[in-house]
Amino acid sequence: MGCSEEIRAQLLEKLREETIETIYNAWFAELRVFSIDEVLDIAYLGVPDLPGKDMNFIMSILRNRYSHKIENVLTNIMGRRFRVVIKRVEEYEDETDSLKRKIKESAASKHFYDNSFDPRYSFDNFVVGDGNKLAHAAAFAVAESPAQSYNPLYIYGNSGLGKTHLLHAIGLHLEKTKPEMSVLYVSAENFTNELVDAIRKNRTYDFKEKYRNVDVLLIDDIQFFGRTKESQEEFFHTFNDLYHNGSQIVISSDCEPDKIDNLQDRLKTRFQWNLIADIVPPDYETRIAILLKLSEANGLTVDEELMKVIQFISEIAKANVRELEGSLNRVVTFARLFNEKITLAFAQKTLGSSNVERRAGVTPERVKSVVSDFYHIEVEDLESAKRQSNVAHARMIAMYLIREMTDSSLPKIGKYFGGKHHTTVLHACKKVENLTESSLEVECEIEEIKGLLGR
Ligand code: ADP
Ligand code: MG
Repeated sequence: MGCSEEIRAQLLEKLREETIETIYNAWFAELRVFSIDEVLDIAYLGVPDLPGKDMNFIMSILRNRYSHKIENVLTNIMGRRFRVVIKRVEEYEDETDSLKRKIKESAASKHFYDNSFDPRYSFDNFVVGDGNKLAHAAAFAVAESPAQSYNPLYIYGNSGLGKTHLLHAIGLHLEKTKPEMSVLYVSAENFTNELVDAIRKNRTYDFKEKYRNVDVLLIDDIQFFGRTKESQEEFFHTFNDLYHNGSQIVISSDCEPDKIDNLQDRLKTRFQWNLIADIVPPDYETRIAILLKLSEANGLTVDEELMKVIQFISEIAKANVRELEGSLNRVVTFARLFNEKITLAFAQKTLGSSNVERRAGVTPERVKSVVSDFYHIEVEDLESAKRQSNVAHARMIAMYLIREMTDSSLPKIGKYFGGKHHTTVLHACKKVENLTESSLEVECEIEEIKGLLGR
């Protein structure tokens, strides 16, 4: 949300380009971007009270006549479909604003703090299908009898397939059945940050105390350890201590131990000591089951129309559960927000079928790898600041393709390229757009790369 101001600047610039001056001055010049919800892709715009103006009139014109235009411009800027909510600034400032509260609740962005297990991430709420049944069974066995079945348990799979959910489920189950046990959940990233902090403050002793005395350590996303030597080293010792003390260790990662870049062999070996369970994307039936469960949890009545919506979402959101849930949540929230019935037509309009289909299967990582192969350079070059013309060209094409083919926002794309500013990304995308029109060669390159990406 920190970049609301920049987004506002871009939004205004675009609107100014696309409208005549009098209209711009009358309707858009005062618009504020109040906040941007990147989970639900909604922008909250505000209009300050203008002395001597009939605000009701202004609001109604903005909402009825111009909101569509603003949405289109914003969608262009953000690289994915955005909706806007326009209100008077003072309405936002009103603490009791129930709409805002409702949105906040339904947005339900999930933040985890160490060791507070999210009650939604229970075994009961986990739908078992072919793709995750081994991981689920193993996690459940560990939760029933820690350190006696699979130790360590290593769960891996792509993002959004339920790894964090399973780690929390283990924690919740143990909290209930064996409250005397100390169970600690931590992401590898937080483990690393804490370690760095402890070193800086001369408190490594406390750090060690904390992690080496637990009965169960649930450590999430350990692919992160590929980035730092110190934390690997520390984790190696933590692992050994825990293991020898008979504590349970559960690890999640986005790939097999062997495939984690820059991970010490001795850690890889330890991860392979016991069970390695993978999770693959859910099949159609499982996707339906997950959406049904989610609908129930949201208090929706599953009638014929909702069933059609569920089937539609199951067909378009195949890659992972997060996308599946996100799609349903978006439909439900928008229906509430705009007072519409949840129908198939509404879902199609809200989700834009082509958009989601286009995205399925193409990830930023894949684009980077295919593009770097295509131009015979290294992925690291793409992420670097190198300005050599072939590298810069490839980087620009990769940014453009990620923007077009995935749902990543401009700031996120910047991050994929070693932390570039989102205006740099925008600039690159525009440049490629222009090139595709002026250069047949570039157009062909892009078509070829899209072909390699399976599009
Ligand atoms: P990961 O950690 O693998 O990236 P998460 O555990 O965060 O994925 O899961 C993403 C979302 O999908 C969460 O809201 C989670 O509750 C939900 N989810 C994943 N798998 C299932 C499942 N089998 N049944 C129900 N919900 C699931
Ligand atoms: Mg996770």
